[in-house]
Amino acid sequence: MRLLPEPSYKKFITGELKRFDERDTGFSRGVVEGNKYTVMHENSVRNIEKLIPGKTILDHALWVAGRTVDYILRKKEMAREGAPIYNRGYRLENPDPSAMTKIIKEVALWLGADLVGVTKLNPLWIYTHWGHHNAMYTSAAEPGIPINLPEEYDRVIVMIHEMDHERLRRTPAVESETDIMYSKMGWCASSLATYIRELGFRAIPCGNELGLSIPMAIDAGLGELSRMGLLMTREFGPRVRISKVFTNLPLLPDTPVEIGIQRFCEKCSVCAEHCPSRAIMSGPRTDKAWDRSNSAGILKWPLKAMDCFNWWVANGTHCSICIRVCPWNKPNTLFHRSIRLLAERNLFTKGLVFFDELLGYGKQDKRNDYSAIQDPSVTKL
Ligand code: SF4
Ligand code: SF4
Repeated sequence: MRLLPEPSYKKFITGELKRFDERDTGFSRGVVEGNKYTVMHENSVRNIEKLIPGKTILDHALWVAGRTVDYILRKKEMAREGAPIYNRGYRLENPDPSAMTKIIKEVALWLGADLVGVTKLNPLWIYTHWGHHNAMYTSAAEPGIPINLPEEYDRVIVMIHEMDHERLRRTPAVESETDIMYSKMGWCASSLATYIRELGFRAIPCGNELGLSIPMAIDAGLGELSRMGLLMTREFGPRVRISKVFTNLPLLPDTPVEIGIQRFCEKCSVCAEHCPSRAIMSGPRTDKAWDRSNSAGILKWPLKAMDCFNWWVANGTHCSICIRVCPWNKPNTLFHRSIRLLAERNLFTKGLVFFDELLGYGKQDKRNDYSAIQDPSVTKL
């Protein structure tokens, strides 16, 4: 791993980057172009009756259980500038940025984050307007309302939440790990925001709301952009979720890093080959956009967002096949950390990819199925 003077994506910028409108994300377009989330959830319930292995009522109930805290927190806490709960009279008088950065990171880890970084807020990453997806789930604003964070919010604390390696191997069956992570994101971000507010400073907790989490995480030194368009961390590969807290608490920014993923992805296209919707590009990067769900002006592998989402709808649950098959998706064990040293240095990349597939690391795990011990048949209520 190398520390960089500027984020690794900077060298790929070819034109003027503009703030992104959340209404153009695949998820927001899905709300207005066919109410795709509702259809996906309807298909999820239909799968219960069909007794599809991995999508039975036992699996269905688990993902909804995992999301429970997320649904509550997004309606009440996330993407909002809340008030302190008790201390409305005092403010920490002389916050030392170095000490406070250390404290905030310790608190974030204590709350349950797996990695944490800090960056100066780049306003380019804040959405121009609320989109239908986050507006629907948070009820914090109407779609199309402009987003303008006060300048005072000049720091972002970015938290990484590791998804369980074994559970994620169930995808594209219901894997429920994605869902419980949304609850953890809400728990960690809203609790950290409470801590900051009780110190007398301002804080807005967010999951995917208000801005693009991936470039903020890269700025905060937590990883790099991958071919599949997700954040690649050194410790957990792409098997992560991201939450963030905007604040005016004085904090020291972290340094961006290079972990070797850019060159690795140039020689690997396992995610593109296994993507059932062909939404991930193989071949070299482009700075063109497929449609309004991509930003032009930066060389990368833009995702065909609607193709991906349409497949989720047909599948009746979200999909993480690209994460499952990625050679960087490994448990953070001594053995895999040793192999990672080769991957980071881009040594034997093609050989690593070949043996990864040969050894079956990315294969779907169909064993973890509760219907092996409980008949999943259903009757109408
Ligand atoms: S989530 Fe599934 S459909 Fe979407 S890009 Fe990844 S593999 Fe393809
Ligand atoms: S599967 Fe290969 S190309 Fe795709 S993100 Fe992972 S390392 Fe990069």
